Amino acid sequence: MIQNGYDVRVFEKRPEPVPLGGGVLLSVPVLAILRRYGVDVGERFGSQTRVEFRNAKGKVRARLPFNPLIEKTLGIPGWHYGVLRSSAFSKMLALVPDGVIHPDSTFHSYEERADSIVLRFAGGGETEADIVVGADGIRSGVSRQAFGDHGLFHVGLRLWLAWCGHVEGVSRDTGAIAHSRRMQASYFPMLHDGEPGFEWWIVEPSRAHDPAPADVEGHVRALLAPFADPLPRFPDHTNFETQIFRWDIYNRASLQRWTAGRVACIGDAVHPVSPYAAYGMGMAIEDGYFLARALGGADLNDPTTVQSAFERFESERVSYVNHHVEFARTLGRRFHHAPPPVALVRDFVFDNTKALQALLTKGYLADQEQMSLQLHELAVA
Ligand SMILES: Cc1cc2nc3c(=O)[nH]c(=O)nc-3n(C[C@H](O)[C@H](O)[C@H](O)COP(=O)(O)OP(=O)(O)OC[C@H]3O[C@@H](n4cnc5c(N)ncnc54)[C@H](O)[C@@H]3O)c2cc1C
Repeated sequence: MIQNGYDVRVFEKRPEPVPLGGGVLLSVPVLAILRRYGVDVGERFGSQTRVEFRNAKGKVRARLPFNPLIEKTLGIPGWHYGVLRSSAFSKMLALVPDGVIHPDSTFHSYEERADSIVLRFAGGGETEADIVVGADGIRSGVSRQAFGDHGLFHVGLRLWLAWCGHVEGVSRDTGAIAHSRRMQASYFPMLHDGEPGFEWWIVEPSRAHDPAPADVEGHVRALLAPFADPLPRFPDHTNFETQIFRWDIYNRASLQRWTAGRVACIGDAVHPVSPYAAYGMGMAIEDGYFLARALGGADLNDPTTVQSAFERFESERVSYVNHHVEFARTLGRRFHHAPPPVALVRDFVFDNTKALQALLTKGYLADQEQMSLQLHELAVA
């Protein structure tokens, strides 16, 4: 938006924007967008990762393939890159001109007027704008006012997300998502401020108000024990005071509209997603890019122009994103909440056929690849 020449202001409730803890996987189209903004996505940005799905004993069930045409077109090898969130954040924040971010500004409500929109902040104060973009996360106040109560529901999963430095003897080009009958334990190589490390995490079935275990380290080590090497070794390299985060996963029913009047919402504000997508940060970044692309440099004071740009944005994003959120939720249910006889059959099929490979290629990769190839303006070849 800034590069389109708009006067942009970001209102953040905290004293400064703070990244969520741990690492994140970002895919090639997201890197291409960040590169377009001016982020250096070269060798020190992230660690190129080949992702494998395995069973708990380490047998490979599926490999996410790379697409040579996308690699060539967007000029970035591979597909997934592991990066520490704080590293990615600081590189993105470095591009924001001084004075754009207004800290300690908590959104309270908005009021649409004939030719503008007024934002009001908790504790007083207001500002007038042409449009408002609600990028205020899963409990978004902007989204609540525009579309009603979020109706958040717990998806029955809890995640332990951790990171550590490099671990000797663990390959730096492959990440693994491993499943036992009811658990997932995973890791991938990443870079933290250019230094080699690993993100590792566990997904366990849980309920909304299950208490946290008193001994987190003991709990996590016990969950990892049945998994093949190297997973049980990561806790030895992890500081349990500062490098592990607990996350209860909430979703909402898919929305068909993300805009209303002069308001558009992006990211978790309209589509919180389970970690099965490994794509929530990626989709939030893509949403912002597609919204800015749809608005171009158009006159935002003209409601007809705004409405047609918002319609283009929604047509390019809503179904695509809803599919990924719903697919991730389905995968979570299949891997963690299948009744025992069904889980037995599932594991036999995934261990002995290409069914998981086909499911991931069709449900996870196909439309991401199609979308990537349509980003003609980001192509280098
Ligand atoms: C366990 C887990 C693992 C994940 N792994 C991945 C991954 O591998 N790859 C990936 O791409 N994504 C991943 N994600 C998803 C990703 O972290 C989120 O989808 C992403 O952070 C959403 O970005 P956002 O900007 O929409 O919201 P947020 O990151 O939540 O940012 C919202 C901002 O709005 C501010 N705010 C909130 N309320 C107000 C208010 N009233 N007034 C002013 N400011 C306000 C907040 O302080 C915050 O700065 C994961 C998520 C989880 C839970």
